[in-house]
Amino acid sequence: MTERDRSIAGQGPRDTLARGNPRGMTAGPRRALFVDRDGTLIVDVGYPRDPALVEPLPGAIDALRALGDRFAPVIVSNQSGLGRGLITDAEARAVHDRVIDVFARAGVGFAGAYYCPHAPDAGCPCRKPAPGLLLDAARELDLDLARSVMLGDKLSDILAGRTAGCGHTIRLGPDVDGAGGSQRCDDWAAVAVVLRSLA
Ligand SMILES: [Mg+2]
Ligand SMILES: [Zn+2]
Repeated sequence: MTERDRSIAGQGPRDTLARGNPRGMTAGPRRALFVDRDGTLIVDVGYPRDPALVEPLPGAIDALRALGDRFAPVIVSNQSGLGRGLITDAEARAVHDRVIDVFARAGVGFAGAYYCPHAPDAGCPCRKPAPGLLLDAARELDLDLARSVMLGDKLSDILAGRTAGCGHTIRLGPDVDGAGGSQRCDDWAAVAVVLRSLA
């Protein structure tokens, strides 16, 4: 069984969600908007284990809805609470599924939703700033990395996007750790403006 088969079967953390792609497969590589989850898509509560606490950040739903067919949104998330033994597989999956469900109910479907379950010292290829999640997504979802965008609230997000070869990186929130990025945006409304400008 390949990694992709496991993903479809819902048995692995790298969950490619066909139901999140209502437009179906399109011809040629797609342009992705890679989105960090905690602190970017939803309020960061730290090692999230309770689906009831999933709360989209203001403007995220509107901005993602406005993407239309121009970008395929893909979640790429570090969930080291798993590798640290702080949250269980079931808790992590429940929160992840809840995120997807909350956005789906608001009309936002993700082309894919991936997370790294490993601890920082595990040396895995998928924990951001490593680019593994983005590279897996690019292969599995047929994405054009050079035309894709990585959006996140931390240095590790910006670095993962750069290393994966994303043509554009956007830092959400204050640049507290020198991550920079191609652009820095205070909020999702500003992100939406940047994304519209990327013809
Ligand atoms: Mg984050
Ligand atoms: Zn990993």
